[in-house]
Amino acid sequence: MVVLLDYLEAEKMLRKYGIKTARSAYIKSGEEAVSFSGGKPIVMKVLSQQALHKSKSGLVKLNLYNEDKIIDAFSYLEKQAKALKLKDYRILAQEMAPNGIEIIVGGKTDPQFGKLILLGLGGIYVEAFKDVALRVCPISSYDAKSMISQLKSRSIIASSPESASMVESLLMRASKMIMENDISELDLNPIILHSNGYVAVDLRVMK
Ligand code: ADP
Ligand code: MG
Repeated sequence: MVVLLDYLEAEKMLRKYGIKTARSAYIKSGEEAVSFSGGKPIVMKVLSQQALHKSKSGLVKLNLYNEDKIIDAFSYLEKQAKALKLKDYRILAQEMAPNGIEIIVGGKTDPQFGKLILLGLGGIYVEAFKDVALRVCPISSYDAKSMISQLKSRSIIASSPESASMVESLLMRASKMIMENDISELDLNPIILHSNGYVAVDLRVMK
C-alpha cells in the first residue's frame, strides 16, 4: 500500500540530504500560528491523506502578514476541512518564501525502469507545457546538467551560472535521497528559486 509520509518526517528526510525546506510547524490554534509567525508573513495549509491537491480544494492560505489575517485564516481552514469531511487532517504553518521561479523535482519507482528523477517548471506549468526532463537514478553531475539543458524552460530555471549549479546540486541530492530510501513517489512542487537560493515549500513523499 502507498502511504503519504508525514510532512515533518518528509522534511527531516530532505534535510538529511541537505535539501532546504521552509520552516514549518503543526499548529492547533490561530494563536499558536501567530506566535509561530513572530511578526513575519506566513502560509497555512491543511494537510490530509484525503486531500492531495490542497489549493484546488481551498486548503492553502498565503501571505498572512498580520495577526487578524492569521486568526481568520485558521478558522477558515478549519471550516474548509470540516466541509470536505476530512478525517485525519492537521494544519501546518509555514514561513512565506520570497517570490521566485517555481520548479518541480519529482521521482518515482517505475516497474520497468526503476528509480526515476524528474525536473520541470513547477505549479500549473508542469501540466500545461509537458516540458520535463527524466533520468534513471543515480544521476551524475553531467546528467544533472543535461536535464536542465534539455528543457525549453532552461533559461528560466537556470537564469545564471549560479542558479544552474544550485539546481544541479539539488538534483544530485534528490537522486541520492531517492536511491537510499524506499520511496514510491516524490513530489517537491514547488521548490521556489529566489535571489538568495531556493526553498522547498510543498513536500510529498509516498512510501
Ligand atoms: P498544493 O500543491 O497541494 O495545491 P502547495 O503547498 O504547493 O499546495 O501550495 C500551492 C501554491 O501556493 C504553491 O504552488 C505556491 O505557489 C504557493 N505556496 C505554498 N507554500 C508557499 C510558501 N511557503 N511560500 C510562498 N508560496 C507558497
Ligand atoms: Mg504543490
